[in-house]
Amino acid sequence: MITASNLAKRYDGFTALDDVSFSFPDAGIFGIVGHNGAGKTTLLKIIAGLVAPSSGDLSVNGIDVVREPVALKEMLGYLPEESRLYETMTAEDYLAFFGEIYGIEKEEIAVRTRRLFAALSLEPNGKKLGEFSKGMKRKTAIARSLIHDPKFLVYDEPTSGLDPMTSRFIAEYLRKLKNEGRTIVLSAHNLYQIEAICDRVMILRRGKVVALGTMDELREQFGSITYTIWFSAADPARIDRQAVPYRQDERGLACDAGDMAGLNVCSAAITAAGGRVERIESRYPSLEEMLVAVGK
Ligand code: ATP
Repeated sequence: MITASNLAKRYDGFTALDDVSFSFPDAGIFGIVGHNGAGKTTLLKIIAGLVAPSSGDLSVNGIDVVREPVALKEMLGYLPEESRLYETMTAEDYLAFFGEIYGIEKEEIAVRTRRLFAALSLEPNGKKLGEFSKGMKRKTAIARSLIHDPKFLVYDEPTSGLDPMTSRFIAEYLRKLKNEGRTIVLSAHNLYQIEAICDRVMILRRGKVVALGTMDELREQFGSITYTIWFSAADPARIDRQAVPYRQDERGLACDAGDMAGLNVCSAAITAAGGRVERIESRYPSLEEMLVAVGK
């Protein structure tokens, strides 16, 4: 369980986080989204014990992130937004270096490294980290975050800048990590991916939590379903375009309605003009639309 109460972070009078409270249960993926500068990285760094909050409390599995940094590091893996890898090292040496910092035996590090590389489909083939592609570098950084087998993972934009295949691969890998019982808190600008893999989502705006819940709860909070009516008409010119602001695309004639009353008005106008309603689609707002609605 990750619990935050009344968390705030101020930098020289600038408030990066303001009165942030939440609780994330174990074995889930929690997404933090928000516009640039909303405070996502600041919050992730506080969870990882890398930045101290100005006020408020945060605990991971009952461990206070400020007062118990050693205990926190043992059970938490952190993936920074940009990880600087040691360019002249091989991936094996890199993981061995960090494994040793955690006090893991050499043989055990080698076993874990092989297992992680296989799970991540990473084939370093003796290359130096400086010669790795972006995707390979990201996978190496993820392997590094997992070398001490932590239960909690804090990942800052794990798929940013990656091609769609690698990005999808990593999203699937995060699902597997969750199914192993790990808890993952991540930030991302790829909102479709957040919708697809997160159990709960927090929207931050200027350091404040403006929404928090499952995608279903967020859809409820951000309201309404919109309807699209697909229809046919022998003579579309007969339809009152004021009542039915329809459009035509390759799929046919369509008009949108924001609620049931609008839906009824459109249907009636279509029928009155000799047209026929073919089908009605309903749609909830996407996370992207929610973020746009929240504003910068
Ligand atoms: P992005 O999506 O662009 O990565 P973010 O949501 O991760 O943004 P943060 O990096 O947490 O945002 O930054 C939040 C705010 O805090 C920004 O206005 C940033 O300039 C400010 N900030 C972050 N770190 C510091 C610092 N060390 N000193 C001063 N201001 C800082």
